Amino acid sequence: MAGIFLDQLKKAPILCDGAVGTLLYAKGIFINRCYDELNISQPDLIREIHHDYLQSGAQIIETNTFGANSFRLERHGMADRVRDINLAGVQLARQAAKSFDVWIGGSVGPLGVRIEPLGKISLQEARKAFRDQIAALSEGGVDLLLLETFGYLEEIHQAAVDAARARGWRHVYFNSLTIPYWAIHVTAVVGIALTGFSWLGLSLALAFYVPRMFFVTGAYHRYFSHRSYKTSRWFQFVLGVGATLTAQKGPLWWAAHHRIHHKLSDEPGDLHSVKQSGFWWAHHGWLLARDLEDTDLSRIKDFARYPELVWLNRWWVIPPFALGTLTFVLGGFHVFTWAFCVCQVLCWHGTFTINSLSHLLGRRRYATSDDSRNHPVLALITMGEGWHNNHHHYQVSARQGFFWWELDATYYVLRGLAAVGLIWDLHGVPDHVRADRTEATHDGLVSRIRERSTKSERHDLTEGWRALVGRSSRS
Ligand SMILES: [Zn+2]
Ligand SMILES: [Zn+2]
Repeated sequence: MAGIFLDQLKKAPILCDGAVGTLLYAKGIFINRCYDELNISQPDLIREIHHDYLQSGAQIIETNTFGANSFRLERHGMADRVRDINLAGVQLARQAAKSFDVWIGGSVGPLGVRIEPLGKISLQEARKAFRDQIAALSEGGVDLLLLETFGYLEEIHQAAVDAARARGWRHVYFNSLTIPYWAIHVTAVVGIALTGFSWLGLSLALAFYVPRMFFVTGAYHRYFSHRSYKTSRWFQFVLGVGATLTAQKGPLWWAAHHRIHHKLSDEPGDLHSVKQSGFWWAHHGWLLARDLEDTDLSRIKDFARYPELVWLNRWWVIPPFALGTLTFVLGGFHVFTWAFCVCQVLCWHGTFTINSLSHLLGRRRYATSDDSRNHPVLALITMGEGWHNNHHHYQVSARQGFFWWELDATYYVLRGLAAVGLIWDLHGVPDHVRADRTEATHDGLVSRIRERSTKSERHDLTEGWRALVGRSSRS
């Protein structure tokens, strides 16, 4: 059942476990005890309850941490044990669920005190209490957070959800795996400052940028995600290696996630939608988040049957690491700075404009059900990907600039590769698809509005969950 939580939730109901406190009481623990502390003093009892729910078919196991915040623990003289108790709660759930394919939900309940203006506790103090608990649950490695049984709207909205989101932000951008990402950014800047500008450096950065960007768009995107042309097995592997040189994870990972973007464009569950999750998440948060590290091979069965691609997908970091090392060994620090670091940063953010800016800036030629747009500058930076509304309108096309004046450098390279026989069967754009500009018509607008309202009704439940869940998938 590995996969993305919100995506699974859309497909079918997910069965959560039930009350833990009630069962503890039934097992002889009187209500004057601190139930959360049992994670430490009676771990077997908690594991047993988790196990019973797992045996009954629960797909989410909640940690026994409903009251493990500093205010509630203070009543038992344990306000300083928030971290220990929450960490232990996650550990017990993980141990119980070891042989089950389930999510571990970090349970966060109300503070049990009144917050201003109804009570004496300030919003700031309340946020801190939630933040401390959520930090410990995240550190323990929960897959999602469940903010439950709140009777006071402001408390859940202004304190608990805020705390969960703040924690999510730090967790996304600053984790052990984002160290190389930020280190390359820093090296690019420091390298220029130390070794200075040179035309050779700039030329190298641009010379490396073009093939890299080609592999992003011609390989990751137009081949692995959309199969917009055919090729041989060996050249397919070359495309895969070329794509990984751009350090945007494995080709199967990239394509599997991209297919979700098209399936749910700008709707709940779209992994990089500005509309759903904000600019920075859409720009690069989704790529950095540890929660989305797994590749759902069921979404990319067509390529997952090639063992060499599965291998490359797992060890994607080898080609960019080798490239970085090679530029350093052959050219020294100055060449490494420009040809690898500066070029890499430009290639990353150039690519990421498609996830962020291409759903914000530019013109909509076609009445797609998302916010995709066409923008000539973005198309120039990304070798043709900026014709993003065209692409959402007709995804299988190898060509994203639909007209001769829409520059699409990737397509020109693909035509070149086809001319020498390395690839073939490039998908074109049928005339009726190119001419289907219903956006400006009354009927087009009406059908778009209808489609949107149906979709939003369908996703009401998911939206509700989204408000409650801090982290959206299994790690
Ligand atoms: Zn696409
Ligand atoms: Zn898009």
